[in-house]
Formats: sequence, structure tokens, C-alpha cells
Amino acid sequence: MKVLSVASEVFPLIKTGGLADVAGALPLALAPLGIDMRTLMPGYTSVLAKLGTTRTVCDIPDLLGHPATLLFTEHAGLPLYVIDCPDFYDRDGGPYVDETGKDYIDNWQRFAALSRVASDIANGVDPDWAPDVVHGHDWQAGLAPVYLKYSEVGPHTPSVITIHNIAFQGQFSAQIFPALGLPIDAYHVDGVEYYSNIGYLKGGLRTAWALTTVSPTYAEEILEPQFGMGLEGLIGERVTDLVGIVNGIDDDVWNPETDKHIAANYNGVNLKKRRENRAALVRRFGLIANDGPIFCVVSRLTWQKGIDLIIEAADEIVAHGGKLAILGSGDPVLEEGIRAAAARHPGSIGIVFGYDEPLSHLMQAGSDVILIPSRFEPCGLTQLYGLRYGCVPVVGKTGGLADTIIDANGAALTARVATGVQFSPIDRHGLSQALRRTFRLFEDDAAWNALQKAAMKSDVSWQTSASQYANLYKTLISRVAVP
Ligand code: ADP
Repeated sequence: MKVLSVASEVFPLIKTGGLADVAGALPLALAPLGIDMRTLMPGYTSVLAKLGTTRTVCDIPDLLGHPATLLFTEHAGLPLYVIDCPDFYDRDGGPYVDETGKDYIDNWQRFAALSRVASDIANGVDPDWAPDVVHGHDWQAGLAPVYLKYSEVGPHTPSVITIHNIAFQGQFSAQIFPALGLPIDAYHVDGVEYYSNIGYLKGGLRTAWALTTVSPTYAEEILEPQFGMGLEGLIGERVTDLVGIVNGIDDDVWNPETDKHIAANYNGVNLKKRRENRAALVRRFGLIANDGPIFCVVSRLTWQKGIDLIIEAADEIVAHGGKLAILGSGDPVLEEGIRAAAARHPGSIGIVFGYDEPLSHLMQAGSDVILIPSRFEPCGLTQLYGLRYGCVPVVGKTGGLADTIIDANGAALTARVATGVQFSPIDRHGLSQALRRTFRLFEDDAAWNALQKAAMKSDVSWQTSASQYANLYKTLISRVAVP
């Protein structure tokens, strides 16, 4: 079975968040199940620079008005199609924003191009390979099912669209429609039209054969206005085609026994080694070592992630003898709030602003708690890394956080199955209660140790989820009409 995955970021080539981890790990998890998954991605400058030998699949003289070349290569075990289109992707900033953090004004074109090429591949531009299913991720690949549905070549290849975060929808003015190269009937409520604008994710959700999101709880939540962000009605209409499949993690990349980014390797029977990582972390963040718990945050600094709640709780954490180590970047107002909290508590709150993959590993290996008070969280990966590293997750009870953590309530503690602390409502008061529970647990060595060990035994692999995707692909293929 051949599947084309379409993603705007893929680890280890380029990453801004969890999508890259999923796009990088899922093909490897599907391979043992007999699924030949290739990934299509944009050839950003930094990506092209990392590639070895490439094969030219074809020239595309007119990709939404710009010349491009489709390349094929392998990188870190991943078979990749890469779109080399300097007009769209040769930029100095990130994949979506320029160096000042502003969205590129031609993002509509840059990612329509990604989807257009996906449908070209499905329709046979590579004589050596064509997918049985096209699997697009997020709004950047939202038009892939649309191009497939409206393409003149048939039979149409089945498509799946996965929502990693419905907050990002890719909405643009209707004025761009003629440049997308879609037939006029695609500007319709059953196509890309969305309240007189164009919605990329909306178009994908309308036209894909199947919809998935990255946890069962989030699949339910997005049916509600509070989480659906305007798309709840459409998703409600398609609920029978929607499934929530929780993300796994790449357990080679995230393995405390072999991780090269940490100070000392360890496993579930040898947790004493964590102390060396803790010491390295304390040095790195300029903390004054004590016996209290170190809470870490590895996150985009946004309202979604509840960073304002952490800022409000910072004094309380320090007052109870805790430390806070924060790695992230994002909203300048939140960065300022963190800076102010750190200034009030030198030696107790340490910050590194920016993106640092190796440091994110040390934080999981050396901190006691990973703090994730997200207001919504489609799946979340950092709590899964926390489980694997014995860094106890303290999380808001929402989305994938609700599905992957077993709360340390009395019954779960007695049965020794608890893996973290969950709280609800996700507000200042809820967080405060959770912190108090966490401090109490941390003071009880036996309880804490049991929590860490149960966490490290959790199944955070891709195995179960990969077979769910495989079954979904099979079901879709069986629906293709035999001519
Ligand atoms: P989201 O995709 O919403 O940002 P996830 O928890 O699903 O959240 O995934 C975030 C990913 O990005 C994780 O792999 C996390 O370790 C990583 N990450 C987030 N911020 C940073 C950072 N500042 N430095 C390094 N890695 C980070």
C-alpha cells in the first residue's frame, strides 16, 4: 500500500512544533506494517541545504505561476518528495513567518502549491510511484483533497486530512481564488468557500474522504463551539468520517537510555542517574540547587498553552520551594511576564528564550515535572516525552492530555497506575490545586518513585496508532470504485 503524506514541516529537516515530529515518525512506524509512505514537503532553503543526492522527478513550469522542480530523495530513512521552487521557499525566515515573525503574504500561494503538487503526484507525475491514498496534515495541506476532488484525472485517489490544531485554519480573501487554478464550482460551500472567503482547512475537511485528529478527546471537543473555532458545524456533519488517533513518539529519538543530548543515560530501574541530568539543568538555567521539585516548560509561549497561568503561579511555585525552568518563544507579552517573574526570583526561575532541540531533551531528563496547563491541546507531545523520561506531567485535562495521562487520584495511586497530575477547570485556581497536589506527592519519595516508574512504563510508541492509520487507509482503498 502506497501513501503520500503531505506536510509543511518534517523532523529532522525542519520543525516548529509537534506536526514535524508526527510527519517524521509516522512513515517509520508504518513501514513494518507494509505501508510505503512517502512525504511531500516544501524545499525551504534550509531543507535543500541538508539534502544529499536528489533525483529530479519532473519540472513544473507553472506552479501557480512560478517555475518549480519536483525532487525525490531519502533523508534519515524517510523517502521524500521536495518541491524546489525558489520563488516560494527561498526565504531567510521560518517556514511560515519572516524574521520579524510576520506571516509571509504569499502563504496562500506557497501552501496551495504544496497541495497542488500532492494531487499531481496522485495523478501520476512520477512514472515510478503513485499513492493509493493521500494523507494531508493541517491547513497547509488542506487543499490537497480539494485539488484531488476537482482534478480532471480519475479515478480520484482517496484522501485523509489530519487536524493537528484547528486554531490554524488558513483563511484568505476570495480574491485569490482565480490564481488557485481550481474550477469555478470549487468556490462553493462544498469546496473552499468559507463565509465569502477561502478556507484551506475548511476545504480539506469538506472534501477529504476521511478526517482525523490527534486524540479521541479532541475529536469530541472540536464538535463544540468552544473548541471547534467556527468549524464545529462542518465537522458535526462529517462526524461519521472522523476519528481521533493519538500520536506516538519516535522512541529512538526520545530514549533516555541512549539520548546523546543528556548528561547521563538511565532507565526505569536506574532513576538515580537523573540527578546528573538535574545538576546539568540547574547549571544551564542558573538555578540555585535545592531539594524542591524542578518544573520545566518546553513550549510555544502562547495563550493556548496556558503560559499566562504559569506566570501567575510562578510566585506560588517558588514559595513552596519549587524551581521553574522555561524554554520557549512566542508572544512578546508573555515573554515579558516570564522575564519579570524571573527577575523577582533569581536562582529560582531560569529562562532560555528560543528554540533548542538538544536542551529540550535535557529538560525532560533533568526536571521533576513537565508543566502543561494548556487550555486546549489536540494531542501534545511534551507530556509523552515526559512519561518516557520519568519527568512527571502536570497537565490540564483536555484533548490528548486527558487521553494520555492517568491522574494521581487515590485509586490510581493505590493501584500504582497513576502517571501524572491532571486538573480541571483549566484556570488559576485549578492549577493552584494541582500544584499543591504535586508538591505533596513529591515529598512522598515512594509515591513519587511509583509515579515515575508507571510513567516510564506507559506505551507512548507509535505501534497502536500506526495500525489505526493503516486500517483507515485500507478502508478507504476498499471504497474506491472498481471500474
Ligand atoms: P505544538 O505542536 O502545539 O507546539 P506539541 O506538544 O504537540 O505542541 O509539540 C511541540 C514540540 O515542539 C515538542 O517536540 C517540543 O519538545 C518542541 N518544542 C516546543 N518548544 C520548543 C523549544 N523552544 N525548543 C525546543 N523544542 C521545542
